[in-house]
Amino acid sequence: MYAVFVIVILLLFILFHKEKPKTYTDEKGYKRFTDSNKLVHRWIAEKKLGRKLKPGEIVHHKNRKKGDNRPQNLWIFHNQEEHDKIHKYDAKNHGKRASYKGFN
Ligand SMILES: [Zn+2]
Repeated sequence: MYAVFVIVILLLFILFHKEKPKTYTDEKGYKRFTDSNKLVHRWIAEKKLGRKLKPGEIVHHKNRKKGDNRPQNLWIFHNQEEHDKIHKYDAKNHGKRASYKGFN
């Protein structure tokens, strides 16, 4: 009886225990997956879009916090030029520091 109980608990554990992928923060402050070195925010952006990012597409952190990879914090730009526009606009209106480092 006891053995059956242990097996059931083990099976439930295997079924529901999904290991969280390990990440680290690189020297620029971006999170990367430990196994592949892939940037976490680009991976999340791909999940959000439902496709792979095209070459040149830029993933921007809306609140400028590089570690905040919630899907709603990520904006995808077609290219660096489009991406630069938002930073230049904000630098003009809120200062260069705020535009790159965040608003608080
Ligand atoms: Zn940006």
